[in-house]
Amino acid sequence: PMKQRLLVVANRLPVSAFRRGEDSWSLEISAGGLVSALLGVKEVDAKWIGWAGVNVPDEVGQRALTKALAEKRCIPVFLDEEIVHQYYNGYCNNILWPLFHYLGLPQEDRLATTRSFQSQFDAYKRANQMFADVVNQHYEDGDVVWCHDYHLMFLPKCLKEYNSKMKVGWFLHTPFPSSEIHRTLPSRSELLRSVLAADLVGFHTYDYARHFVSACTRILGLEGTPEGVEDQGKLTRVAAFPIGIDSDRFKRALELPAVKDHINELTQRFAGRKEKMLSFSCLLLVMLGVDRLDMIKGIPQKILAFEKFLEENPVWRDKVVLLQIAVPTRTDVHEYQKLTSQVHEIVGRINGRFGTLTAVPIIHLDRSLDFQALCALYAVTDVALVTSLRDGMNLVSYEFVACQGAKRGVLILSEFAGAAQSLGAGALLVNPWNITEVANSIAYALNMPADEREKRHRHNYAHVTTHTAQDWAETFVSFESHPPTPFLLLA
Ligand code: UDP
Repeated sequence: PMKQRLLVVANRLPVSAFRRGEDSWSLEISAGGLVSALLGVKEVDAKWIGWAGVNVPDEVGQRALTKALAEKRCIPVFLDEEIVHQYYNGYCNNILWPLFHYLGLPQEDRLATTRSFQSQFDAYKRANQMFADVVNQHYEDGDVVWCHDYHLMFLPKCLKEYNSKMKVGWFLHTPFPSSEIHRTLPSRSELLRSVLAADLVGFHTYDYARHFVSACTRILGLEGTPEGVEDQGKLTRVAAFPIGIDSDRFKRALELPAVKDHINELTQRFAGRKEKMLSFSCLLLVMLGVDRLDMIKGIPQKILAFEKFLEENPVWRDKVVLLQIAVPTRTDVHEYQKLTSQVHEIVGRINGRFGTLTAVPIIHLDRSLDFQALCALYAVTDVALVTSLRDGMNLVSYEFVACQGAKRGVLILSEFAGAAQSLGAGALLVNPWNITEVANSIAYALNMPADEREKRHRHNYAHVTTHTAQDWAETFVSFESHPPTPFLLLA
């Protein structure tokens, strides 16, 4: 049989492009979740459409980049600096991102942007139209078009205006907030209506799907049905498709000699501080946080909870270390700079308070790690700490579980991460705002007996290895032809 052709449209292409000369480019594939998810779906033949992340003002450069990308099955959308500023930095990252994560519309620092709201929204629509133009140029009858994320909420409508027969799906990778939050957005109705132009709308969890349906019923006055939302007889299907990871990729990585060496090094590093007075060395347990340094990740709350734990559990003070990998993100934005200094200040204070001449309780790194180093770190961790204040899914929690085949570490997971819906039975769920609760969970996790750790790990591991990214993509793409029994979404 013919493979289903799929056009995947996302703000960013899964490659980074570096200009080497007037007409020469070098490309680096980024092996993110979406790419490996779709590589695993054997029945589809996917092409990618998106922005390459670089400004290419000249036609020679654009032609050369288009040609280079074609070999990777990628098609570029060229956005100039002004539109990137208004659409991407402005409307997407300054308005939609915080709103969808319950941080509200701009206040204080970001207030200036509410004045330019309309021009940013116009740029957003213009940018979405540019994506639609490129899709339309490459679309062939029978293609399925899969639009991704909050950057492209206008795309389904633009596409259907070109061709009402086009099969269009839209998937949101962030939370969709309560309708009470969504209704504060000045462009609330227009955005909902354009998403509803799609045939299928997908979210990570039932709650996000339910929120979307309520927004449509309450703000637009439409009818919610068990299958989705109905507007004058036209049904838009709405459903939950929780994403997963390519768990085999992590299992394979742990078998690589380089990763094994890395694991040995880390194990020795944390093998324990020699107690000077006593002749034995005590084992140092490793707690791990891996987050982009974003407000939604609750990093200050996490570190304050760790401080409270140290305060209340003096016997643990020289037996545990919190390793926090904080990947820099949006470093040009004042709010993010402020968050960075705030985190540094708290870490410095706690290390000053509980550190010794030879050791500190928190190792905080403002950097990213490569895939192999990250796998090694996941593998040696005793307790992973995910305290997101809101998080669409949180893949770090899945990746940690996938790398814990040998160790059976404990996952402490925020109830506000989408992953709490799937790993709730194995993880210790916490409200990240409740510092006392998180501190108690840290103590509980560090003291957890082996049989309980085993049982909890088995739960999580079974889920992560059977609900993979490939399954996720397959389910979404085949949904139109095999819709499962209706989901109950009536709010
Ligand atoms: N990650 C990485 N290098 C690092 C730290 C994290 O590549 O140094 C990856 C990690 O493996 C995960 C992703 O970044 O796949 C983070 O995804 P998540 O869903 O947890 O959060 P997001 O950053 O998308 O909000």
